[in-house]
Amino acid sequence: MLTSAPDHLPGRRAARLTVVDPATGEVFGEVPDQRPDILDAVIGRSHRAWLGWRADPAARAAALHAAAGAVEAAGDDLARLLTREQGKPLAESHAEIARTAARLRYFAGLAPRTRRISDGRPGHSEVRWRPLGPVAAIVPWNFPIQLAAAKFAPALAAGNTVVLKPSPFTPLATRLLGSVLAGALPEDVLTVVTGREPLGARLAAHPGIRHVTFTGSVPTGRAVAEAAAAPLARVTLELGGNDAAVLLDDVDVDGIADRLFWAAFRNCGQVCMAVKRVYAPARLHARVVEALAERARTVTVGPGLDPDTRLGPVNNAPQLARVERLVRRALADGARAAAGGHRPAGPGHFFAPTVLTDVPPDSPVVTEEQFGPVLPVLPYRSLDEAVEAANGTAFGLGGSVWSGDPDRAEAVADRLECGTAWINHHAELSLAQPFAGTKDSGVGVAGGPWGLYGNLRPFVVHRPREV
Ligand code: NAD
Repeated sequence: MLTSAPDHLPGRRAARLTVVDPATGEVFGEVPDQRPDILDAVIGRSHRAWLGWRADPAARAAALHAAAGAVEAAGDDLARLLTREQGKPLAESHAEIARTAARLRYFAGLAPRTRRISDGRPGHSEVRWRPLGPVAAIVPWNFPIQLAAAKFAPALAAGNTVVLKPSPFTPLATRLLGSVLAGALPEDVLTVVTGREPLGARLAAHPGIRHVTFTGSVPTGRAVAEAAAAPLARVTLELGGNDAAVLLDDVDVDGIADRLFWAAFRNCGQVCMAVKRVYAPARLHARVVEALAERARTVTVGPGLDPDTRLGPVNNAPQLARVERLVRRALADGARAAAGGHRPAGPGHFFAPTVLTDVPPDSPVVTEEQFGPVLPVLPYRSLDEAVEAANGTAFGLGGSVWSGDPDRAEAVADRLECGTAWINHHAELSLAQPFAGTKDSGVGVAGGPWGLYGNLRPFVVHRPREV
C-alpha cells in the first residue's frame, strides 16, 4: 500500500491517469485518478496524524533523518522513474534525489527559536512557535521530487502534516517517493494524492488545510490564492520567472559561454529561474550569439536514459506546443534562429536547442516565460537601457550580471528587481538561504530558516511580574 489515502470512495470505480514518456511520446505508466471526494477522508486522517506528529520534535528529527536515508537507498529506482516521466538526463535525476535527501537532513536539524521580550513594563512575553496543521503541497512537473521536498521537508520539520499533489504529467516518481517515505514516517504524516483537476483546486480550498504551498504558473497561482481565501489558509506561491542575464562590456565571452548556456538550457530550459533572456552590449552581441549557438548546435539531445544525453525532451505536449508557438511568432516578427528554431523529425517531445537573434524586444518570447530550450539574445547600448529592459517584465524571480569585475557587476545586480541576483553565474541556491520572488513571481518565502517559519505561527505567552 502506497499511502493510507483511499484511491476512491467505496462503491466508485477507480479511474486511472496515464503517464507519457516524453522521450517517446508513448504511455508507459499509470496512477489512480483520484477524485476530490476523497479529500475529506484524506485530510481528516492527516489532521489526526498531526496531533501526534506535532508533539515530539526529537522524534520528528529522527524520522526525517531516517526519511533521508530511505530516499538515498531508493535513489536508483526513483531517478530512473523520474527520468522516464520527466525527460531529464539520468544524472540530473540522481542530483534531484540527492538534493531531496540533503533537504530532509537540513530541515531535520533546524528548530525555531523561542524569544523572551521585555519592553520595560513589568513582566515579560515569550514568543514560541506552533505548527499550523495539515499543509497542502502542490507541485509542477519540472522538478517533481526536489520541489515536493522543498515543501514537505520544512512543513514536516515544523510539526505539520502534508498532503502532496504532483502534476498529472509527473505523478509516478512522487507516488514511489510516498511509499519510500511511508517506511520512515508515521502513518498519514505525508500523503500523496494523484489526479486531474479539480483535485488541486479542491485541495487548495479545503477547510481542513491551514497552509497551501504551491509552485507553478502565475495564472494557477492566482487561482490557488483565491481558493485558499475562503478557508483563510496561509499561501506560499512560487511562480514563474523570466530571468535576465545582463553581460557587461568587459565580460570574457568565451570564458562564460558554457556557464551561461547551461544556466539557460539545463533541464531543457524548464527551470523557473533559468536564464530566459540575455542582454549583451551591442559591440559583443554577435560573439555572444555565436558562442551560445555553437553550443546549442552541438549539445547531445536525446532520451534521458541514454548516458550520452545532455538535453532531454520537453516534458509534455502542451508545453512543446507553447514553445513552438513562441518561436514561430518570433520568427514571423523578424527574429532569426542562430541555432535550432524547429522540432526535429522523429518521436518524442523534442525541440532543437534554439538561440534567437534580431528578436523584437516586445516579442512574447522575450516578455513571457518560454520555459523551454529557447534563448533570445538582445543587444543594448547603455547600461541604463539594459537594466530597464531586465526589469521590464511582470516577473521578478532572479537575474544575473556577468563581468570581469565582480564589484562592478554587483553594483548593477543591486539594481535588479528580483528575489535573487547572481554574479557570473545563475540559479545556484543554498539550502540555507531564503528563496522568494517579487512582482508576479511569488508570495511568501521558502528556503532556510525562513522556510521553517513559513510553516509556523507565533504563539505568545505573557506573564506579568510576580507580586
Ligand atoms: P501549473 O500552474 O500548470 O501547475 C502546477 C500544479 O498545479 C500542478 O500540480 C497542477 O496539476 C496544479 N493545478 C492546476 N490547476 C490548479 C488549480 N486550479 N488549483 C490548484 N492546483 C492546480 O504549472 P506547471 O505547468 O506544472 O509548471 C510550470 C510553471 O511552474 C512555470 O511557470 C514555472 O516557472 C513554474 N515554476 C516555478 C518555480 C518557483 O520556484 N518559482 C519552480 C518551478 C516551476
